[in-house]
Amino acid sequence: MITAPQNNDYKPGTWKGLLIGKRQRRSASFTCPNGHVCSLSKYEILADGSVHPSVICSMDGCGFHEFITLEGWAAFPPAPPLEEASEGQKTEKQLL
Ligand SMILES: [Zn+2]
Repeated sequence: MITAPQNNDYKPGTWKGLLIGKRQRRSASFTCPNGHVCSLSKYEILADGSVHPSVICSMDGCGFHEFITLEGWAAFPPAPPLEEASEGQKTEKQLL
């Protein structure tokens, strides 16, 4: 079991956040300790950052196979300002 820190430079043993498609589905890539970038788009990433099932590096002959947890996943991506906007609208309505 590996806890991977977030890193945007594909450093070995880290993850990088991705937003996929029009609906901006949250996903990630994971760079295995041997430096191979693996997409996690087919994996399930739980709210606590744990990835299921265990991650197998897609590079032939690498042999990396571990359960990983994405450190800081809950904070990815930084919250959009949508909630603030609706709060503001509420306040405006209350004022009216
Ligand atoms: Zn690998």
